[in-house]
Formats: sequence, structure tokens, C-alpha cells
Amino acid sequence: MNVVLLGPPGAGKGTQATKISQTFDLEHISTGDLFRREISNQSTLGTKAKSFMDRGELVPDEITVAMIRSEIAELSKGFLLDGFPRNVEQAKALSHMLRDEQIDIDYVVSLEVDQQHIIDRMMARGRSDDTPETIRTRLEVFSQQTAPVIEYYDQQLAVHHIDGNRSIDEVFASIQGVLTREGQV
Ligand code: AMP
Repeated sequence: MNVVLLGPPGAGKGTQATKISQTFDLEHISTGDLFRREISNQSTLGTKAKSFMDRGELVPDEITVAMIRSEIAELSKGFLLDGFPRNVEQAKALSHMLRDEQIDIDYVVSLEVDQQHIIDRMMARGRSDDTPETIRTRLEVFSQQTAPVIEYYDQQLAVHHIDGNRSIDEVFASIQGVLTREGQV
């Protein structure tokens, strides 16, 4: 089973992604986590990514897509993509990559959370890129670049919209319901 999890920054994607990948035995691929690992390893890729992340902007597609390509090539089980794709170009690149490998996306889940909740959650987690300034930029990036990804998938697969303004367990129960339902997309 292969799942794409979409949602604004601060929607709780990382938390849900961890629970989903454990429950359904999926490879959790988080581009944010991959970049943070590269930064802590002080790699060239990490250094390039950091300047964009510190501003709340997207890391350029050529870097991000290449990183995902190597993750996909190494897969030995189903995947859960968390934080990718973040724009329509990335979604198209993913479609091409998966077509080449004859892999299908089974579910697209969109976590939806009210703006005020997002800001409260991001301020509460206190990550170094969670300053008021970058939060504003990331929300803008989401509405301008990532929201169209939901429409992109809506045209080809049924996107499952999940109300993320609830407790972790309630949100997870809804997602679990979607992923265990028969006769998927
Ligand atoms: P996240 O942990 O998913 O909130 O990602 C943290 C930061 O990593 C984002 O604000 C971006 O700067 C960068 N990033 C993560 N995923 C992507 C992606 N798919 N495309 C470009 N940049 C990304």
C-alpha cells in the first residue's frame, strides 16, 4: 500500500505519518526529516537546503526530487510520503517516477486544519524554522504552491479529506478508517 499524506505545515502530518507507517508497516519518507538529517550531517545537500528552510521557502525541486528518487529506488515495502509533493511540479515528477517503477499511489489523504490551529501548533513545537516570520511564509507557500497539489490529485484519484482539528487519536482513527476500507480509489 502506498500513501501520500498532504496538509499544511503544523497540521500534525509528522505525528500521523509515524502512527500510520507503524500500523500499516510502511516506509515513512519525510522530506523535512531527510533534509534535517542532511543538515545535522553537515552535507553539501544539507547546507543548500538549510538556507531555504530557514526562510520557510521550498528547497528547489531539482534537489528535492533527486532525493525522493533515490528513496523510491531503495523501497522494499509500501511508502508513506509526508511533506512531498509540495507543488504540482513535484507531483508530476513523482507520477513519472512511479510510472517508471510501475508503482501506484493507493491513497491520497489531505489533513485539513484551521489557520489559527496551525499557528498555535507551530508556535508550540518551537522548531528553529517556526518563527512568526517563517510560519507566515510557509502558510503562503502552502496556499500558493501546495494546495494546487490537492486539486491535481483530485482530478486523478479520490482525495480523502480528513478534519485535522481534532485530537491525535481521533484524527488517526479517521485515517485508519480510510486506509482499511475496501474498494479503495
Ligand atoms: P517539514 O518538516 O515538512 O515542515 O519541512 C520543513 C522544511 O523543509 C520546509 O519548510 C521546506 O523548506 C523543506 N521541505 C520539506 N519538504 C519539501 C518539499 N517537498 N519541497 C521543498 N522543500 C521541502
